[in-house]
Amino acid sequence: MDTGSLVLVYTGNGKGKTTAALGLALRQIGWDRRVLVIQFMKGKGNVYGERMAAERFLPLLEIEQHGRDEFVNLSNPAELDAELARKALERAEEAMESGEYGMVVLDEVNVAMATGMIDPKEVLALLDKRHKNTDVVLTGRYCPKEIEDRADMVSEVREVKHHFRRGIPAKKGIEY
Ligand code: ATP
Ligand code: MG
Repeated sequence: MDTGSLVLVYTGNGKGKTTAALGLALRQIGWDRRVLVIQFMKGKGNVYGERMAAERFLPLLEIEQHGRDEFVNLSNPAELDAELARKALERAEEAMESGEYGMVVLDEVNVAMATGMIDPKEVLALLDKRHKNTDVVLTGRYCPKEIEDRADMVSEVREVKHHFRRGIPAKKGIEY
């Protein structure tokens, strides 16, 4: 049965949302499908293992960072951050419509919506326009209800424990 493309959401306060999306990306790549990961609110200066892995070993995986190196003020995002988030969404639209990708991951887009930087309605419109062969993954805490309603799959990752609470700082290969 051809079920068409799916909309998959990973949300919640625990660790594992972005890495779950990257796991799906790996599966796609195994089937020779191209994957684009668009990271909202992340600057190009941030070093992530997955980006280096993509550059060195995974020609089918593209990871783009759209944001500033500084943290976004979540309670009151700067206009520049909102502008970069809107540009990331434009890029997502182009990629999702093109049919070039088996999967497009919108990493942290839920937070971009929850903070008001982008309107969930715009994301819904984008989902309507996606190519029939392109699965879309949305990650980040605070996924808006209207997005969850539209999604085919929603998983909530719940924190039971996190090493951060014991004062362990971000670790290579685990956090980045
Ligand atoms: P990962 O990228 O490891 O899959 P994530 O995408 O689920 O994590 P985000 O909400 O994007 O998590 O947060 C980014 C970083 O914050 C992660 O590196 C993670 O280790 C850390 N983090 C996630 N959940 C928690 C938590 N409950 N307490 C403290 N730090 C957390
Ligand atoms: Mg994440």
